[in-house]
Amino acid sequence: MREKIKVFLKRNTLRKILLGNPWIYHNEILKIEGSVSPGDIVDIYDSSKSFIGRGYINPNSKITVRILTRKEEEINKEFFRERILKAWEYRKKLVDTRSCRVVFGEADFLPGLIIDKFEDILVIQTLSLGIDRFKETIVEVLEEIFQPRGIYERNDVPVREIEGLPQIKGFLKGNFDPIIEIEENGLKILVDVKDGQKTGYFLDQRENRAALKGLVDGAEVLDAFSYTGSFALHALKFGAERVVAVDSSDYALELAKKNAILNGFLEKIEFIEENAFDLLRKFHKEGRNFDVVILDPPAFAKSQKSLENALRGYKEINLRAMKIIRDGGFLITCSCSQHVSPEIFQRVIESASHDANRILRLIEFRYQAKDHPILYSHPESLYLKCGIYQVLKKE
Ligand code: SAH
Repeated sequence: MREKIKVFLKRNTLRKILLGNPWIYHNEILKIEGSVSPGDIVDIYDSSKSFIGRGYINPNSKITVRILTRKEEEINKEFFRERILKAWEYRKKLVDTRSCRVVFGEADFLPGLIIDKFEDILVIQTLSLGIDRFKETIVEVLEEIFQPRGIYERNDVPVREIEGLPQIKGFLKGNFDPIIEIEENGLKILVDVKDGQKTGYFLDQRENRAALKGLVDGAEVLDAFSYTGSFALHALKFGAERVVAVDSSDYALELAKKNAILNGFLEKIEFIEENAFDLLRKFHKEGRNFDVVILDPPAFAKSQKSLENALRGYKEINLRAMKIIRDGGFLITCSCSQHVSPEIFQRVIESASHDANRILRLIEFRYQAKDHPILYSHPESLYLKCGIYQVLKKE
């Protein structure tokens, strides 16, 4: 029997936790009873000693406890099987499950755990110590539920170091070609689960890419921050005449080129390896205009502290993009910084339009795809914003 460790919450934290937030910060804890090792399972109580839930603890992390369950149940293989099956049922209802995010951490009540499925390959991230302790159990459960051809671990992420975990990646099951061909909205896309970014591919943009339909017919399109070219390919599928795809990573563009060939679009795409900030400025100077510009930069704000700079960055690229969009054209602009709320992001866009001397018509404001669910009780689960605007010159 494990020794029971009890974590008592301060009174003013209780409401947030009872509403369903799974994170308990260091300064929200009243006291801890029992001797704690980082990663241990703990029981959570309110200040009058009523049971609130069970989770894992890491005293070295600012988010000291993450709640796994609100019941007095064992955290064992059965627990993970049930949770993962529930997450899988949700995806089967809502998305194309050939390739999708199967588990999205806190939003699937499995804090710190990410599982992406690319056809018959699974990619897993265990981002905190408490969940990392269950890695083998989780892999066993995944084998039983999905019988995948292979499982790859992409734990080469800096957040793990805050938790005292090493950055590692490698095969957990099977030894397969790490480049997987998936299909998204009828397009063939190569995903490199070993050397691609994050888990290899940005599944969170799937529905936003599909939203290009109707906006790009016959258009000249700029896909800035293109990575492996997914937005660009969608634009061509939906009738774009020509696409310029820009990324600072030559590796991403190599794969983007292969994707273009795979879909028969090579003649219609120009790939440019450059800093998108510089290129947007250069295009403006040269008077090179587009009907549609897509901006999908990496997270500029990695923390609350870097927010100011990040907002300047968002404003700058959006302003530059608006200036090179032809009258009546479209801007598809994204931000995946969790620290930038939809309201702040929209304010930045509005301010950019002011400086660019353009009028914006909001067509749609979108978020991450359905396999990355958003919990009201865990606002951090909302991170991706995607605004679709028509950009008009002032009459
Ligand atoms: N739109 C892509 C995902 C973009 S991820 C998709 O749908 O899959 C962000 C991309 O921006 C990465 O590929 C990264 O290499 C690139 N990047 C980061 N900083 C950049 C910069 N300053 N200029 C151009 N590309 C940049």
